[in-house]
Amino acid sequence: MLTQDGFNLDDAIRKVPDFPKPGILFYDITSILANPDAFRYCIDSMVKLYRDQRLDGIAAIESRGFIFASPLCDRLGIPLLLVRKKGKLPGKTLGKRYELEYGEAEIEMHVADIPVGGRVLIVDDLIATGGTIRAAADLLTDGGADAIGAFAVVGLPFLDYRKTLGDLPVRTLIEYFGE
Ligand code: AMP
Repeated sequence: MLTQDGFNLDDAIRKVPDFPKPGILFYDITSILANPDAFRYCIDSMVKLYRDQRLDGIAAIESRGFIFASPLCDRLGIPLLLVRKKGKLPGKTLGKRYELEYGEAEIEMHVADIPVGGRVLIVDDLIATGGTIRAAADLLTDGGADAIGAFAVVGLPFLDYRKTLGDLPVRTLIEYFGE
């Protein structure tokens, strides 16, 4: 399976059945990171997608989102804003609780990082239900920023993330349609 521009990204993604629990097919991006051509393909593709947009920051989701957002921020010359699990950030934070399949989670950002009135892109490695991205977008909105879109290397549209994310523009490099 080739991406739109002919790179075999699928080959670079390790698929691990029944991880972290039975019935889940885990799309592991560590095999992209260990493959310099694949990693460069991802970062170059992100640069092409976003270089013509005015962005005031990229909100990177802990932890695999950090890996893809960091080089993009460097290449575009814009601020990297970390979205972390509760209790990790030392400064004044703003938090958002959200539902998981089982239980709840909470993410936080440093208040000082959120550009009030600014345009922010959210980046993660993979979008499944879209719950994490939804919470990050709501957190940015609460902080006074404008979440203008989301990017993930991998999308799983069969888990209905587009419904969860409504009209938030989402871009991915590869999508899988079932397990
Ligand atoms: P969600 O909030 O449901 O969109 O879940 C997205 C988060 O969970 C991302 O940070 C992913 O890294 C991780 N994730 C969920 N499902 C998978 C999967 N099948 N393979 C790899 N990562 C996953």
